[in-house]
Amino acid sequence: MTKKDTICVQGSYQPNSGDPRVLPLVQSTTYYYETPEEMAHLFDHPKDGHIYSRISNPTVAEMESKITLLEGGVAAMACASGMSAITLAVLTLATKGDNFITTSQIYGGTYNLFKVTLPKMGIEVRFVDSDASEEEIEAQIDDRTKFIFGEIIANPAMTVFNFEKFSKICQKYQMVLMIDNTLATPILCRPFEYGANVIVHSTTKYMDGHAGSVGGVVVDGGNFDYDQNKRYADFYTPDDSYHGLTYVDEGGSAAFALKARMQFMRDIGANISPFNAYLTNLGMETLHLRMQRHSENAQGLAEALQKHPMVDWVSYPGLPGNANEANAKRYLSGGYSGMLTFGIKGGREKAAALIKELKIFKQVTHIADVRSCLLHPATTTHRQLSNEDLEACGIPENLIRLSVGIEALEDLTEDLIGALDKI
Ligand code: PLP
Repeated sequence: MTKKDTICVQGSYQPNSGDPRVLPLVQSTTYYYETPEEMAHLFDHPKDGHIYSRISNPTVAEMESKITLLEGGVAAMACASGMSAITLAVLTLATKGDNFITTSQIYGGTYNLFKVTLPKMGIEVRFVDSDASEEEIEAQIDDRTKFIFGEIIANPAMTVFNFEKFSKICQKYQMVLMIDNTLATPILCRPFEYGANVIVHSTTKYMDGHAGSVGGVVVDGGNFDYDQNKRYADFYTPDDSYHGLTYVDEGGSAAFALKARMQFMRDIGANISPFNAYLTNLGMETLHLRMQRHSENAQGLAEALQKHPMVDWVSYPGLPGNANEANAKRYLSGGYSGMLTFGIKGGREKAAALIKELKIFKQVTHIADVRSCLLHPATTTHRQLSNEDLEACGIPENLIRLSVGIEALEDLTEDLIGALDKI
């Protein structure tokens, strides 16, 4: 089973004779072992079985292994949300006194975590523009710099991550590259193939795909050698909180995933519920088909919007001449996903009029499910950001974000273009 389409449908869970054909939902928090020796073994070798559902669970494990297969990694850890996945991934690499670099063009919630919350915990976050030169980026690196972070398609700035530039720098400094692959999903891009070492997702988005389940995941690429790399000394020195276990020895190529789970999932408990993992797995069974349709519909709408007199500009990686066209062609294949943004002439007032006029596109604080929706970030998700911060995130005040669903393109065009005609 090597093709992504087959992995979406049949990857991970494999029934034995007489087992349920569909992934079973295991709600149990605990697991029975007959002998003390079996239980003791698991405490020393947590990969060998389940102890307690805060740390691992059979239904969650199948969701994790499907995502691992799709991304081409070695292990994954599902979390309660995309934000908890990002937080745990950061904490696995960085501690008080450390720093990391991120592009400024990232989701507002992540921006807030990086700009406000992590610095309060003593982790400094250094922001660079996606277009920054190699010299500008390198000037931010010191001995305590732990990784570079970026979003594959930035929400809602729409920039497409420049792997060549950032992964070259990470390789030069023997440093981890962490990518948020939420908006492309492994169907359109597999970041490990372009130098990423850790991938995070909000599975709340396309992976679940039906706006029915909040979740996140951290995926370990198994392609970074932490052993004896001075930036990551706590990967190869014994962890007192875990019987003196050493993550590189016990975890091997999945040392990152083991540390994330045994230190941070254990201590913080941001685990996904088995029911949400069950729903996410169900969603992923059609991910390949949905990503294709989301992409086709978004391409069609982007082209229609470009011609409308009420539209100032349109940003979609699939549009010829778009600022992100080169990176999109290079790193995305099979489509450019379902999110697009445009600037409405008349700013906030016309944005409000448009939202009231639409019938199919509904205003919701969400993206990336089967239903088309829209949002005006400056008055909603990003209202906590100053105008300066908005500019830094690449979000002009007149920007409208569309998440294009999988309905009929004809109906979507009629709804959106019809509403623009009226206002
Ligand atoms: N990453 C991206 C790119 C997102 O768009 C979001 C949410 O919109 C998140 C992370 C956070 O995910 P969650 O809402 O599941 O916590």
